[in-house]
Amino acid sequence: MVKSAILLIYTGGTIGMKKDPVTQTLRPFDFSGILDEVPELQKFALKVDAYNFDPPIDSSDVEPSRWVELARLIESRYDQYDGFVVLHGTDTMAYSASALSYIFDGLSKPVVFTGSQLPIGVARTDGKENLISSVEIAAAKDSDGRAIVPEVSIYFGSKLMRGNRTTKYDSECFEAFASPNCPPLADAGINIRYASKEILQPSGHPFSVHPSLDTRVSILKIHPGITPGIVRNILLGEETRAVILETFGAGNAPSRGWFIDCVRQAVASGKILVNVTQCPAGRVDMDIYETGKQLKEAGVFCGYDSTTENMLAKLFHLLGVSDDREWIGRMIQTPLRGDITV
Ligand code: ASP
Repeated sequence: MVKSAILLIYTGGTIGMKKDPVTQTLRPFDFSGILDEVPELQKFALKVDAYNFDPPIDSSDVEPSRWVELARLIESRYDQYDGFVVLHGTDTMAYSASALSYIFDGLSKPVVFTGSQLPIGVARTDGKENLISSVEIAAAKDSDGRAIVPEVSIYFGSKLMRGNRTTKYDSECFEAFASPNCPPLADAGINIRYASKEILQPSGHPFSVHPSLDTRVSILKIHPGITPGIVRNILLGEETRAVILETFGAGNAPSRGWFIDCVRQAVASGKILVNVTQCPAGRVDMDIYETGKQLKEAGVFCGYDSTTENMLAKLFHLLGVSDDREWIGRMIQTPLRGDITV
């Protein structure tokens, strides 16, 4: 029988960090020795190869160019491996997993992101369990030999989540990620239980990589006391093509004249405005309150139950592939990768 093959890709992050004896801060180390560090991986009937990004980075330094590099790497090895495990810092993992979900089209193999809160060399590390379960998930196939989870996901703290539904919500505990508006794709206890109904099936398109991303997007978090000057700078900024409005509750923003005028002006000048809630869970519904309705009438698109991380990545992708405002608006409000519930 041919063994399944998994490619482990180390991009950086705590999972592969060591304490610098001089500064006492965590710094990335050479990950090529990962199989010695986690000998348990050799117990699977799998071929596990490792690839190291050089230099590995703290994920706070991640840039869209790194996402494209990662996508190109997976594309170049796509036929050689049954699944991919991406080791990544937790700080921006939700952004990277969201971005990869759009950069790939026609994905039919698992791409599982994971990392850890404690370095893998530390006795109480959460990295080993995260890594071992991610490898098992990336290799899992059904009785017809098809990948069980053929999408971009994040495995962390015993749960497998759709990547573009996650957010890092705890900077300390081992369950660092939440997927507040989408149930887990799998739960790992004694067995790994897959929630088959929740898992996206391949679109049937041939696998391809869409590397063009337009990053001229900003995020405006609405708050009491926000000033006209600040709102104007962000919504009408010359460089900006799109703005994510992180609004209150179900999608509400101040109803004052200057605010809504500024929104109208931005829309009239061709900018794309999207409403997502700043609540950690729940959705935008711009028909409930007058303050939300005003935004809808001004031409703001609804982000439904999207995370901010997902909407940012989705806009980078949509703006990268089109200039057609109407089409982009329609796609924002369409679940392209299981990213929103409309
Ligand atoms: N600062 C680290 C990073 O995101 C934290 C982590 O790995 O969890 O790269």
